[in-house]
Amino acid sequence: MNIAMIGTGYVGLVTGACFAESGNSVVCMDIDRDRIAALREGKVPIHEPKLVELVLRNLNIRLSFTTDLAAAVEASKIVFIAVGTPQGINGNAKVEYVLTAAKNIAQTMSGYRIIVNKSTAPVGTADQIYALVERTTPHPFAVISNPEFLKEGCAVDDFMKPDRVVLGGNDAEATEVLKKLYEPFVRTGNPIVVMDRRSAEMSKYASNAMLATKIAFINEIANLCEELGADVDHVRHAIGLDRRIGPHFIFPGIGYGGSCFPKDVRAIISMGNSSCEMALLKAVDEVNERQKTILLDKVRAHFGGHLSMRTVAVWGLSFKPSTDDMRESPSIPVIESLLKSGASIRAFDPVAGKQATKLFNGRVHCCEHSYEALEAADALMILTEWNEFRLPDFQRVKRLLKSPVIFDGRNLYNTAEMRELGFTYYSIGRGNV
Ligand code: NAD
Repeated sequence: MNIAMIGTGYVGLVTGACFAESGNSVVCMDIDRDRIAALREGKVPIHEPKLVELVLRNLNIRLSFTTDLAAAVEASKIVFIAVGTPQGINGNAKVEYVLTAAKNIAQTMSGYRIIVNKSTAPVGTADQIYALVERTTPHPFAVISNPEFLKEGCAVDDFMKPDRVVLGGNDAEATEVLKKLYEPFVRTGNPIVVMDRRSAEMSKYASNAMLATKIAFINEIANLCEELGADVDHVRHAIGLDRRIGPHFIFPGIGYGGSCFPKDVRAIISMGNSSCEMALLKAVDEVNERQKTILLDKVRAHFGGHLSMRTVAVWGLSFKPSTDDMRESPSIPVIESLLKSGASIRAFDPVAGKQATKLFNGRVHCCEHSYEALEAADALMILTEWNEFRLPDFQRVKRLLKSPVIFDGRNLYNTAEMRELGFTYYSIGRGNV
C-alpha cells in the first residue's frame, strides 16, 4: 500500500519505518526541514532501539522523506496524521497541529483518501477532522481514529507486536483496508479492535490514565510504607501476585514523566471539566507532582538544609531508560531545584546528555562516563533506571564520592547490601539505611 505519514517524530517515524519494513511504500513528511534533511541521509534524530537499522534498511527503497505535503498526499491512498498534541494552558490537549494537517491534506488531495489520526487527541477530534475535510474537499474520503500505544524505549518492538490495534470509524471499506495493513503485525493472534471514533479516542486516554494511576497509587503506598516502617518492595511483590492486580507498573519512584502521561492525564481532566469532574485523575496528577520532590526532601534533610557549596552527581536524565527524551522528565524539576539551592551538578546519562546540555544551558556539567560524574561529588542521585546503573562497582563509587551517600529514586539496590557496603542509602518506600 502507499502511505503518507504527516509528522515524523517518535510516533510518525517509528510507524512509517515499521510499515515500510512490512512491504509498504511510505513517504514521511514533516515541517521540520532539518529533521527531514537528516533523515534523508539516514541520520535518525531520536534515540530509539532498532530504529536506525529499520530506517537504513528501507531508506530509498520503500521509505522516503519530504517536506512537501502535497506530494506525499498525492502519492498515497492512506494518509496518517502523527503530529504533536501538546498541553494547552488549561491542561487541555492542543489539536491545532492535527487540524492544520487535516486541512492541508484536504486542500491537496485529488481523489479518495483514508485519513487516519494517530495523534492522541481529545474525544471528538476525529469528528472535527471529518467535518473540516468535508468542508474543504469535493473528493470522497474516510476518517479513522487509530490511537498509538507504543512506548518510547521499545517503540519498534511495541509497534511490530502490539497488544492490540484500535480502529475507530464507521466506514467499513476503510476499516477493512486498515485491517489488511495491520495484519502482518498481529499474526500471533493479538486483536484488531474496531469501534466508533469517539470510543477509540477515549481508549487511548483511558489506557494512559490507568497506567498513570497505577504509578501514583504505588508511590503513595510507598510513602506510607516509609512512614510506618514497612518495605514497599515486599508490599509490591505481595499485591502483584494477586492476578486481579498483576506485577506490572507498580514500581515506586520519583513520579512519571515523558511526553504522554502528564499531558494525557491533564487532557482527560480537562475533557471532563465542565460536566464530569475527574476527581481521581486530579488526585493522580497532584500525587505525581508531589512525588517529584520526595527524593529532594531527603537530600535537603541529609545536608541539614544547606546545599550551596555541595556537588551532587546525577545518574540518569531521560524520563525513562532507553530513550533520549527529556520531555517532562522528573530529573528536570529535581535538578532545577538543586541548582536554585546553590548546588553544582555533575550529570551522566547514556544518551540524553546532548538534550540536557541544551536544556540546562550549560548550568549542568554533563559527563562522558558514569564514574566521571562521581568525582568529588558529595552524593549520588539516581533518577533514571538505566540498566548500566544496576550493578556498578560499588568500591569505585565509594572511592570517587567525597562521602558514600546515595539517593536512589528508582530503588535499584538491595538495602541490606548497601548497609553492608557502608553506604548511607536513601530510596523510596523502604526506610533509609
Ligand atoms: P513529536 O513531537 O516527537 O513529533 C511530532 C512531529 O510533528 C514533529 O516532528 C513536528 O515537526 C511535526 N509536525 C507538527 N506539525 C506538523 C504539520 N502540520 N505537518 C507535518 N508535520 C508536523 O511527537 P510524538 O512523540 O511523535 O507524538 C505525536 C503524537 O502521538 C502525540 O499526539 C502524542 O501524544 C502521541 N503519542 C506519543 C507517544 C510517544 O511515546 N511519544 C506514544 C503514543 C502516542
